[in-house]
Amino acid sequence: MTAAGTAGIGPRIVVLAGGVGGSRFVGGVRGALRARGVDDTAAMLTVVVNTGDDLWLSGVRLQPDVDSILYALAGVNDTQRGWGRVGDTERVNHELQEWGAGWPWFTLGDLDLGTHLARTGWLREGATPTEVVARLAERWPLGARLLPMTDAEVDTRVTVRDGQATRDLHFQEWWTRHRAQLQPVRFDNPGVEGAAPAPGVVEALAEADVVLIAPSNPVVSIGPILAVPGIRDALRAAAAPVVGVSPIIGGRVVRGMADVCLTAIGVETSAAAVAAHYRPRADGGLLDAWLLAEEDAASAAEVAASGIRSVVAPLWMTDADAAAALAERALATAGV
Ligand code: GDP
Ligand code: CA
Repeated sequence: MTAAGTAGIGPRIVVLAGGVGGSRFVGGVRGALRARGVDDTAAMLTVVVNTGDDLWLSGVRLQPDVDSILYALAGVNDTQRGWGRVGDTERVNHELQEWGAGWPWFTLGDLDLGTHLARTGWLREGATPTEVVARLAERWPLGARLLPMTDAEVDTRVTVRDGQATRDLHFQEWWTRHRAQLQPVRFDNPGVEGAAPAPGVVEALAEADVVLIAPSNPVVSIGPILAVPGIRDALRAAAAPVVGVSPIIGGRVVRGMADVCLTAIGVETSAAAVAAHYRPRADGGLLDAWLLAEEDAASAAEVAASGIRSVVAPLWMTDADAAAALAERALATAGV
């Protein structure tokens, strides 16, 4: 038996995460474990990553959120641009554009393409996405175990209004090409009804001492993870407390366009509304506790009244130390 909080061992943590907000927070959880003296953080920290953003482009499989977390934990991410590899070049991308291949508005960096080619080759040789993610994660000492949410291809589609009619786009086309400016009507993950959690996901949730919901986009990052049949049930059944961190600070998204996604599903862009969207565990929902920003302290009582413990904390992950302090706060809230 592993005692939670034992020096050098630490609690078993599962984080549900998307890309940018997810990777900053996961880096913070790793930092919090290290600050507690845990050496083998990978043995304690499992990240269940959204794969709804994944897509096929120019013959290769992209996994944007997996790669954001992979690169950030490895310390090879481009912190200026906010995506891709630091120091990347675009020679191959230029050639693809000359050929009229791929998407002219979607850049594939040369180093990034190396990742996509490795991944696609292994998939073509018969490896599962779980196996591929594990192989990608072997290159650097990440200090975390990464699991895709599912091995099924359930890429997120967005139905947008187009005059009187509607049409459907891959999430990446809507997000990157249209900057989420086409009015969304619906988000779907076709085929997700028949998908199963990736191997290890349900087990990790069952064995966890704490489950953390990263401050990721509730609709298109956490939403697809929860849509995989079996994951919501595993969360409800988990013995561990489930603590969420608000991606909304002072009624605004910190980065990105999550507000457009929330509006489309009828959820106000506020920390309290996102907590209500996840719902209290006592009420068949997900959350035992919710971390909201000092800017949103006024809504803490409303969250608490709904049956979710509310904790006011600094939520800005401005650097690694701030992210680690936030993660430590989330762990302390869970009592681990
Ligand atoms: P994506 O997959 O790259 O879009 O990234 P995620 O879904 O993981 O995270 C996007 C969300 O992270 C946005 O909705 C932001 O509101 C949130 N976010 C980004 N930076 C911060 C931060 O410093 N603090 C908090 N609380 N949320 C953040
Ligand atoms: Ca994403």
